[in-house]
Amino acid sequence: MNGWAAKSALRFCGLVLLTGLFVAGCASTRNSKVALPRKHSLKADQLLIVSDFKIDSDHPLILDLLQLRKQVAQTLAMPLGTKQVMVYLFSTETQYKQYWEATYPGFPLRRAYFVQTPAKELAVYTAWSERVQEDLRHEFTHGLLHASLESVPLWLDEGLAEYFEVIGPTSGQVNPDYAHLLMTSVQNGWRPDMRRLETLEAVKEMQRADYREAWAWTHWMLHGSEEGRDVLLGYLRELRTNPNPGRLSDRILADVPTANERLVAYVTTLPSVSLMQVEATSERANNE
Ligand SMILES: [Zn+2]
Repeated sequence: MNGWAAKSALRFCGLVLLTGLFVAGCASTRNSKVALPRKHSLKADQLLIVSDFKIDSDHPLILDLLQLRKQVAQTLAMPLGTKQVMVYLFSTETQYKQYWEATYPGFPLRRAYFVQTPAKELAVYTAWSERVQEDLRHEFTHGLLHASLESVPLWLDEGLAEYFEVIGPTSGQVNPDYAHLLMTSVQNGWRPDMRRLETLEAVKEMQRADYREAWAWTHWMLHGSEEGRDVLLGYLRELRTNPNPGRLSDRILADVPTANERLVAYVTTLPSVSLMQVEATSERANNE
């Protein structure tokens, strides 16, 4: 299995918007094995990282997240937020797993979680791993969105987090694995449907293909259609003050009636993993 395929198999984020009825387990107060990290904290802009190991403020991971905050604001034409996003960064995946399963029983274990409490506290939970940068980029994006917006439709929340998690000098880098799988899906007769995505109300309802489609719609709106971009940015602007602005699909289809067909055409133009592998191979050949 190559690296991209491995990434695809593991890419699943947890997003939990807790209601007032949710009562977190209290095991964490009785069992030291499931304690939150607490020895070190690092505050930078909206980010507050708490860990049991020291991480410097000029660590590339921190600098990347601070840059991401600016990219999110700039790309989505949102003012830079001020509300704090807490990141609990466990030293090991085992510690994270023990904490999560004791504190949030019933929520399936995922590589990382973003949790918004009824008091609108925003927290990310994850562990240091070889994928920590993309996990934190993904979850911090959820945090930044929820810090500035009254609400975000689930599929769009995930589409934007998938969009911004891709590491690169600018936002909007293509996820070549997704591009490849989307192109294959199109060849097999799959067709996108934003209205179907809008019916998904819980993370557990979202399958891997839904994350890919959410990413594709987001990428198309921001890079494949000027009308789509205007509609998305207008919708996000409204979400700053109105938690129920209606369906984004109604606005997209009103302005771009052929949006579904346009997205199909768009995904077939994206550089996919197979194409990138060919290019990397020929580049290596040229350098040898
Ligand atoms: Zn997510």
